[in-house]
Amino acid sequence: RAHTSAELIRAEEPVLAHTYHPLPVVIARAEGAWVEDVEGRRYLDMLAGYSALNFGHRHPALIEAAHRQLDRLTLTSRAFHNDRLAGFAEGLAALTGLDMVLPMNTGAEAVESAVKVARKWAYEVKGVPDGRATVVVAENNFHGRTTTIVGFSTDPVARGGFGPFTPGFRVVPYNDLAALERAVDDTTAAVLIEPVQGEAGVIVPDDGYLRGVRELTRRAGCLFVADEIQSGLGRTGRTLAVEHEGVLPDLVLLGKALGGGIVPVSAVVGRRDVLGVLRPGEHGSTFGGNPLAAAVGAAVVDLLETGEFQRRATELGVVLREGLEALVGKGVVGFRARGLWAGVDVDPALGTGRTIGERLLHEGVLVKDTHGATIRLAPPLTVTADELGDALQALGKVLGRE
Ligand code: PLP
Repeated sequence: RAHTSAELIRAEEPVLAHTYHPLPVVIARAEGAWVEDVEGRRYLDMLAGYSALNFGHRHPALIEAAHRQLDRLTLTSRAFHNDRLAGFAEGLAALTGLDMVLPMNTGAEAVESAVKVARKWAYEVKGVPDGRATVVVAENNFHGRTTTIVGFSTDPVARGGFGPFTPGFRVVPYNDLAALERAVDDTTAAVLIEPVQGEAGVIVPDDGYLRGVRELTRRAGCLFVADEIQSGLGRTGRTLAVEHEGVLPDLVLLGKALGGGIVPVSAVVGRRDVLGVLRPGEHGSTFGGNPLAAAVGAAVVDLLETGEFQRRATELGVVLREGLEALVGKGVVGFRARGLWAGVDVDPALGTGRTIGERLLHEGVLVKDTHGATIRLAPPLTVTADELGDALQALGKVLGRE
């Protein structure tokens, strides 16, 4: 081979901006829940591209949809119609129980788009005086990396050195309805929250919180915007994580798995009377809604319509929870889980999330740490119970070792 893993890692250093500190593995191939490095070593993928790979690597139905579309038409721009977009939007609206779709590419773009929609809605429908609209967000949020979004982050590393920031955001503690009630007023366009805070460490709010947000926003006459970019599309055992409390937000933000791990596809999905405030020329994206993205996105919707992946997440989530419960007191100090998704706090005396990740790498298991001594587990929803058991056993093994 021309390049070993070590050579490829060294080659990145001088030519790639240092925005990540990846684990020292160079992946060359993948299928399902497994990846293979340059030297042919195999690893079980317990991160699944931050849930962009909910259907596993190279799911046959998604690869086929992409191939078929590559052979016909890839990009038109929205200056013209394409023959794939209507079907994708219809399917996605039906899947979520909402009316309309605004197609974008990345998660951050969906969030930015929702902020614009909420502000416009506040001025045109709610009657907020021009320039005064506010959006209420939660502490420890993660919504992406653009300047507006990091401006309302509470993570000093995400914000530091990137100001000045966009005004108009209020931050309240997550999972605190009383604080939310105090922050909402006549200027509030929207409350924007993650139904489960992923990057914060898979923080699952108390039962009743999401229902409370729905009731409060309805009463206050502002929008409920749910960022389901990481929590949505099967991960928690439901199509949307808000379904655990039987609520439907006014706008739902989707990304990651919507592109099937093949192309970046995101969307704002919402009620017609809300998304309808946007008129031609007021928003757009060269790539948003391109036929390749729409073809893959429609195939993703087809997979989710079967309910199979939601069911797998629920069933395997039980295996995950039981496996983690068995490790509490044996290197695990606590964990939070919903569906096939867990944030695991390891005993800091045994190492940081990073060093645990490095040890798991040597055991053939890929995970990603978040915030010090927390690791997140979010394998493809196609993983088997045996594979999941093996990963949990590997975790037990590395935590048992000093
Ligand atoms: N929102 C949430 C909840 C996320 O978890 C992420 C990414 O991790 C984003 C938004 C940003 O998505 P992207 O990286 O595609 O911009």
